[in-house]
Amino acid sequence: MCGIVGYVGAKRNIPEILLEGLKRLEYRGYDSAGLAIGLDSGMEILKSPGKVKELDRKLKAGWTQDKFKNAKVGIAHTRWATHGPPNEVNAHPHSDSKNRIALVHNGIIDNYSELKARLSSIGIKFKSETDTEVLANLISECYEGDLCSAVAAALKQVTGTYGIAVIAKDQPDKIVVARKGSPIVIGVGDDEAFVASDISPLLPYTKRVIYLDDNDITVLSRSGIDLRNMDNVPVTREIAHIDWDANAAEKDGREHFMLKEIEEQPLAISNTMRGRMDHNLVTAKLDGLNLTPRDIAGVSRIVIAACGTSLHAGMVGEYYFEDLTSTPVEVEQAAEFRYRNPILDRDTLVIAISQSGETADTLAAIREAKQKGALVASICNVVGSTIARETGRGVYLHAGPEIGVASTKAFTCQVATLLMMALKFGRAGRLSRSAGQKIISELEKLPDLVRQVLDSSDKIARIAKKYSSAKDFFYIGRGYLYPVALEGALKLKEISYIHAEGYHAAELKHGPIALLDENVPVLALANNIPGKDKVIGNIQECRARKSPVIATATFGDKDILKHADDVMEIPECSDFVTPIPTVVALQLFAYYVARERGCPIDQPRNLAKSVTVE
Ligand code: GLU
Repeated sequence: MCGIVGYVGAKRNIPEILLEGLKRLEYRGYDSAGLAIGLDSGMEILKSPGKVKELDRKLKAGWTQDKFKNAKVGIAHTRWATHGPPNEVNAHPHSDSKNRIALVHNGIIDNYSELKARLSSIGIKFKSETDTEVLANLISECYEGDLCSAVAAALKQVTGTYGIAVIAKDQPDKIVVARKGSPIVIGVGDDEAFVASDISPLLPYTKRVIYLDDNDITVLSRSGIDLRNMDNVPVTREIAHIDWDANAAEKDGREHFMLKEIEEQPLAISNTMRGRMDHNLVTAKLDGLNLTPRDIAGVSRIVIAACGTSLHAGMVGEYYFEDLTSTPVEVEQAAEFRYRNPILDRDTLVIAISQSGETADTLAAIREAKQKGALVASICNVVGSTIARETGRGVYLHAGPEIGVASTKAFTCQVATLLMMALKFGRAGRLSRSAGQKIISELEKLPDLVRQVLDSSDKIARIAKKYSSAKDFFYIGRGYLYPVALEGALKLKEISYIHAEGYHAAELKHGPIALLDENVPVLALANNIPGKDKVIGNIQECRARKSPVIATATFGDKDILKHADDVMEIPECSDFVTPIPTVVALQLFAYYVARERGCPIDQPRNLAKSVTVE
């Protein structure tokens, strides 16, 4: 999920090239950094929690430049923790217990606990809590002098995602790289070669790059680039010529991080669900929650506490728990909850939701809940964050770092997580196998559903352009799409500075309808879910006040054109998962409106990514 850089050759100063490369990857967000350099006399590994400049300082303090004069190979990494908190031991590179190889890894090894148990049973001792160290030991176990074959043999035993770069102590002149689900780019040079997780670290040195495909495995050395697949069959890949500048490279060629993050949602959601579907027992495997079916049966009430976008995700979660379990749920603004005198007891489960895991009000809410003896759990994206640590039980999103201030992929991954949680709770209680199976299969369709919405982004951009000069907006919805209306309006306010209000479709006539006229567009969420007919009725009420109407509707809904001026189509799916593709359309809509207005989309005025004050 985070950054990799590597170099093989004798033309450059290796520590410098690695540190420079890591600095160019800093924009991705990370929590620790490290590097490994191969020398004729062995292999040196240096790691540090925190920023690359810490690593730089440590390197300069401990090692003389002379030491690396003859070095020919090095790999480096910025880590964004998924398994084990950010600290020096968990930082990459990881070596095996015999110190024969060093490895940097982006991604998640799904079956790491099974592999770890097997390796432990043959006496291997582990230093870190990471999935990556398990892979390092697995490769070492397969290593008999041919590093490429060892990496291939190990990867055949692995399920999950990876972009990796591996060096061996006894072959300090080559790097083996491989990818599955996590990008790897090779930089082509003369008598040298580079590798990175995106092109930004390569740009100062070469514009000729090769993007690896899934299941490619490649040996980089001074004499060239040997591309193979996992079965050791040579493959050919085109050399691309890059003319981007470094700024465009950071965003994968997109204009803004927000767009990049919107577009990476199919992968982010897959990562959230990775390894968590239990088809046998028809439930979700959420081991971090640390709740047995018996513990779940003992939960008599759930309180979800969150702020902003996470609060809206929590509101969708409330519907999930109500529909799939028998447990009553309340959703609370964390800022209010902490100062009230909430009634909580041992049988209440408080679920705190926060992308950063540092949101001050949410943190205070869980402290209050703990103080009152409630059970607390969290849903966070940042591993090892304060809320994750203080709750001690929870689910990580694994959505990768979110840089854009307006949250997008964290929201969809939070909603998917809440559906998995409700499935787990439901299956520990009244939910039947067949109903559970239906939810699993809908969850598994999510990446594709989101892709279909992304495919319609040109049309959404055209609609956005048409309405971009509005001063006020209303978003209305019902049922599962009510919280989505709130979230859509929040996105528009955050990045376009247009005054936008999210309302329950029926609430409009209890006041706000007084504000409607031909200058106030209404965005109505009219997909085919229960309550749609009523939303159509509410649309009529708006049109009678001359408001232009934009609707979201299910693909193929011809009638909607009778009611709406413009339509954003959402693929057919079950009610449970509709919020996710629908919100993606609203994220794109807000994005294109803000772009049309020339707003600073990634850093909107007055907003901070992680709200660590009350
Ligand atoms: N799963 C690995 C870890 O937690 C890799 C994280 C990353 O992609 O940075 O160390």
